[in-house]
Amino acid sequence: MSTCKIAVIDGDGIGPEVCQSAVRVLREAVGSCKLDFELLPGGAGHYRKTGKVLPEETFTACAGSHAILHGAAGLPDVRYPDGTEAGNDLHLDLRFRLDLYANVRPIKLLPNVRSPLNGVTAGSIDYVIVRENTEGLYASRGGGIRLRGEVATDTLVITRKGTERVARFAFNLSRQRNGAPKDGKRRLTVCDKANILRSYSFFRSVCEEVWKENFQDIEIDYAYVDAITVHLIKNPQYYDVIVAENMFGDIISDLGAGTIGGLGIAPSSEIGDDHGLFQGSHGSAPDIAGLGIASPLATILSAKMMLEWLADRHGDGHLSDAANRIETAVNSVLQDRVLPRDLGGTSTCEEITVAVIRALNMPRATAA
Ligand code: ATP
Repeated sequence: MSTCKIAVIDGDGIGPEVCQSAVRVLREAVGSCKLDFELLPGGAGHYRKTGKVLPEETFTACAGSHAILHGAAGLPDVRYPDGTEAGNDLHLDLRFRLDLYANVRPIKLLPNVRSPLNGVTAGSIDYVIVRENTEGLYASRGGGIRLRGEVATDTLVITRKGTERVARFAFNLSRQRNGAPKDGKRRLTVCDKANILRSYSFFRSVCEEVWKENFQDIEIDYAYVDAITVHLIKNPQYYDVIVAENMFGDIISDLGAGTIGGLGIAPSSEIGDDHGLFQGSHGSAPDIAGLGIASPLATILSAKMMLEWLADRHGDGHLSDAANRIETAVNSVLQDRVLPRDLGGTSTCEEITVAVIRALNMPRATAA
């Protein structure tokens, strides 16, 4: 394709620093003529100034772009009168309005990243959590009830359509992968709480129907959400792709990120049929904002996912080549022990960005 329009919302806290780092890496990997970046306002800081978290012009530009790159949004002291954080509405609004129903969170242990788990090495943890992104418990956001200061309720929503499409997405993803590190089997694990709530037993049964319909080449597996928190610690090699309801997926993907070095290295994408949004799994980390010590790796790896997605949609080999080069460059930087503080190193956001760009420009054989 000729030129991709990329909507960039850098947002709050560490969002701008990690987002600008990813844009620099993308420019270097792809060549600036192929990507046309448009920086757009939005987030908690913008809400404080204007009363709008996601300005309509930002939404329109996102809807008209080929892909959206996001830093992070949210500041703990910028809240609505009901006590919830305003900044979260940036991606929630984009998710619902652009129908980004699959939140894809790869959990992959990279070279020289020390996992808190014993006996795991690079590549031995390599699975993907597909979190349903538009319904589940979070569908009720803004619609819950607080009654007389005594009772509060939120409603968990599971639909056949929402479950079928995210299950299909997850099975298809498994088909594109090489199976679980433990045994090479392509496997979809349905994560739920089907033993307790009807909504989750419905989620499970719809996933099973989708499997029977079209995906019996892939093994289907089931895990209760409480049990999977133990399995992901004790036996992460077993997993290939996991599909989960929105809130469960949110929680277990942070747990998974913890096993591969933390939120600063865990990428994420939110995919719909027509749009894709890419950002690190972390939030705006206001505690370290502006100090220059945030890790840009999660956002750089999310940008790599963006190129893969664009390459796939538009059949563009140049973009998939650029995505591979970014992955190789990040691995090479980690191998050289240029590590951010959250991975036990001392390198700043700027130093890591420069190192990744340098690695991109190394002859391929040296960088690999
Ligand atoms: P949210 O609810 O918006 O996802 P959160 O409350 O989970 O956010 P984060 O903003 O993700 O919190 O950050 C949690 C902690 O992880 C931060 O305090 C910070 O120390 C660390 N952290 C997160 N992202 C990074 C990063 N990119 N580099 C270094 N440390 C990070």
